[in-house]
Amino acid sequence: MTTFKDLGLSPAIQQALDELGFVEPSPIQEEAIPELLAGHDVIGQAQTGTGKTAAFGLPMLQYLDPDNDEVQAIVLTPTRELCIQVTQALRSYAEHLDIEIVAVFGGAPIRSQQSQLRSGAHVVVATVGRMMDLMSRRSLVLTAARFVVLDEADEMLDLGFIEDVEKILRMCPSGRQTALFSATMPPPIKKLAEGYMYDPVTVRITPKTLTVDAIQQAFVEVPAREKTPRLVELLKTEEPEQAIIFCRTKIGASRLEKALKDKNLDVKALHGDMSQGSRDGVMIAFKDHRVRLLVATDIAARGLDVEHVTHVINFDVPNSSETYVHRIGRTGRVGRTGRAITFVTPAERDEIGRIERDVNTKIGEWETPEERLEHAPPPRRRERRERRPREREREAEATADSEAAPSDDGEAKPERNGAKDRDGDGKAPKTTKLFVNRGERSGIDEEDLRWALREGAVLPDDAVHDVRVLHRFSFVEVDPDQAERTVEYLDGTKLKGKEIRLEVAKS
Ligand code: ADP
Ligand code: MG
Repeated sequence: MTTFKDLGLSPAIQQALDELGFVEPSPIQEEAIPELLAGHDVIGQAQTGTGKTAAFGLPMLQYLDPDNDEVQAIVLTPTRELCIQVTQALRSYAEHLDIEIVAVFGGAPIRSQQSQLRSGAHVVVATVGRMMDLMSRRSLVLTAARFVVLDEADEMLDLGFIEDVEKILRMCPSGRQTALFSATMPPPIKKLAEGYMYDPVTVRITPKTLTVDAIQQAFVEVPAREKTPRLVELLKTEEPEQAIIFCRTKIGASRLEKALKDKNLDVKALHGDMSQGSRDGVMIAFKDHRVRLLVATDIAARGLDVEHVTHVINFDVPNSSETYVHRIGRTGRVGRTGRAITFVTPAERDEIGRIERDVNTKIGEWETPEERLEHAPPPRRRERRERRPREREREAEATADSEAAPSDDGEAKPERNGAKDRDGDGKAPKTTKLFVNRGERSGIDEEDLRWALREGAVLPDDAVHDVRVLHRFSFVEVDPDQAERTVEYLDGTKLKGKEIRLEVAKS
């Protein structure tokens, strides 16, 4: 077992870690700490919760000279919450060091932050905007800031702070050591690293691979100003049980929330401008199914793990393939088929190809259910499910009046004779009859069912012997050896936007 001591950390730091109960360094810490202690620039890529704060914080604290009153290190963070969180973590690691750590962030009086800076700070942990502000007021000079950390760089990018980050970096000494930590590495972050870091070592802790296999993906090309009406249309057609709609910015998210509310849609927003309390409230309401649509920014939705999200809609195209996988990974859980739909403006059209390549997936153009009938790939194979009690009841009813003959208007009870002997000679049945719980009333016709059998259950045409659509339900007759798989592939999938249930008609 590697210990913090093996990594070369000082006894005072080790003592603090002991007291915090940190026994063993996490993988990112094990890799990054020796590199940073050796003075290298480091790019650290790892998911949330992997211990990135200590990975940069411990070598940073060890680098500092307590006798020097200048600001020797800065940590840039994307949000107020993270700024406070990182400050608290660093203070706990510095418990036995004579180091002052000051947090500066927006939404709090600048005067008290200015006075804290005046009384001396070895480390300043800051949000980007407030740091710019303090620099322009000359309350903060970075001429001695030789240890610079960009924490959660991808979030800073998402929030549109990259240009300001570059400005700040240019104010720091050129001989500085720079560490950049991020969960994902979109191209603008890579570019930033190339431009502002010196021969960086990359430390990458790969997450367990996320699979997008269970998710049907599509894109919609739409000019920016038509996005909202198109979304409203799409929600009507798709009828999501619950959907998360991702926006790039907080402003975008609250604007969209308002627009959808104006259309009387059941929607709530989740973004960084909201208080922690109201964010928690929205999360809980969504998890409890009291809200159907959630408009969220990537950051606010981080860690949001909800079952039964049937749809993820990327209202703004994600800025990296990793973000794409994270976003759409919120649907298609536990054996359900989820749908992920990504909006792109004509200028962003190439992004789809990039994501397809990176994620090794196929993203077709979104189609209405009618169009899907013509072209869509077969629905994914689903996990077999327990039958619901309600279906058992219906089965019982059906058995009870099994003598009843089916009538042509379809309002009569289903015919019971699942295995029909076409030749009538008493030999093994030539076809198996399947009951489908939808009919004309649901807008389904014979062609739709034949399509579903062909494309969804992948049956050859000659395995389908009869398709009869009645008013409230339908029957299809298939080769007996294809019956089980037909049920497995189609039961619970959607046809013309309606869930269909299939079972072998009782004999
Ligand atoms: P990240 O920035 O990667 O999201 P944090 O630095 O916030 O992760 O750490 C996540 C949690 O793990 C924190 O509660 C932190 O105290 C804890 N932690 C970090 N490193 C260790 C360690 N080596 N041993 C035990 N707990 C740790
Ligand atoms: Mg962190």
